[in-house]
Amino acid sequence: MNEQEWRCSHCGKLLGIIRDERIHLKFARGHEYIVGFPGISVCRSCRTLNEVIDPSATHIISTQQTKVC
Ligand SMILES: [Zn+2]
Repeated sequence: MNEQEWRCSHCGKLLGIIRDERIHLKFARGHEYIVGFPGISVCRSCRTLNEVIDPSATHIISTQQTKVC
């Protein structure tokens, strides 16, 4: 099994689990989503936009902090 934590590049909060070819996103109220790549998530803690492109590269790309209304 190949699992990797996907954490916010700014505050380190866990955004989801990268598992094989999918991103498993978990939310506080029990919602869960499994999505493909590329995956983009806004940190629920600090609103930083995080993006993950390719699981095989194990590089998690972070972008600039973005304000979300
Ligand atoms: Zn964050």
